[in-house]
Amino acid sequence: MNTNLTWHDSVVSKQERSDKKGQKPCVIWFTGLSGSGKSTIANTLERALFERGHHCYLLDGDNVRQGLNGDLGFADEDRVENIRRIGEAAKLFVDAGLIVMTAFISPFRTERQLARDVVEDDEFIEVHMSTSLEVCEERDPKGLYKKARAGEIPFFTGIDSAYEAPVNPELVIDTGVNDIQACTEQLINYLVEKQYI
Ligand code: ADP
Repeated sequence: MNTNLTWHDSVVSKQERSDKKGQKPCVIWFTGLSGSGKSTIANTLERALFERGHHCYLLDGDNVRQGLNGDLGFADEDRVENIRRIGEAAKLFVDAGLIVMTAFISPFRTERQLARDVVEDDEFIEVHMSTSLEVCEERDPKGLYKKARAGEIPFFTGIDSAYEAPVNPELVIDTGVNDIQACTEQLINYLVEKQYI
């Protein structure tokens, strides 16, 4: 990193932004297999928070890969850089006072730890979408498992690339057991209980 750079604190503090918005900014980091429901639940949660008057933003895997991370592929070093940039972007959103949701498979513990480390301890909520591989593959909403089983997508998480489940996530949600509304309520209840909203 360039040693001539200095971090400039904003004249409006994170606390002031947070107070004005009536919420505690944080990153809600969804992790889980493809098809486990990350995007679906993150979108429903975003809508629910918005309806309650909260200020939030969703960073979705496919969207980010088309823009900010459009130059990155799926090799290991690119996957790490993908998550690093998302973590840094999420941190800026938190600084802006927002509740930011991220929906990425993020299969490796070390990369999720990196994302956790860039914000304060109580600003990171790791949500493990624990939906089983069987259910995800049965859903196969984008037809990716079918392609992966046919050998058309190498290093597909859950098939021939590992998914390292979180050891101590703040929340575990199984969309194979609970419907969309119940999963969203589980999240809202957590945010209320921990006084984020
Ligand atoms: P991911 O973002 O983890 O890849 P998606 O949200 O894109 O997963 O896909 C999940 C699929 O499962 C969607 O087609 C969704 O409609 C379906 N689904 C069925 N039941 C649920 C549930 N309870 N919660 C979330 N998604 C569900």
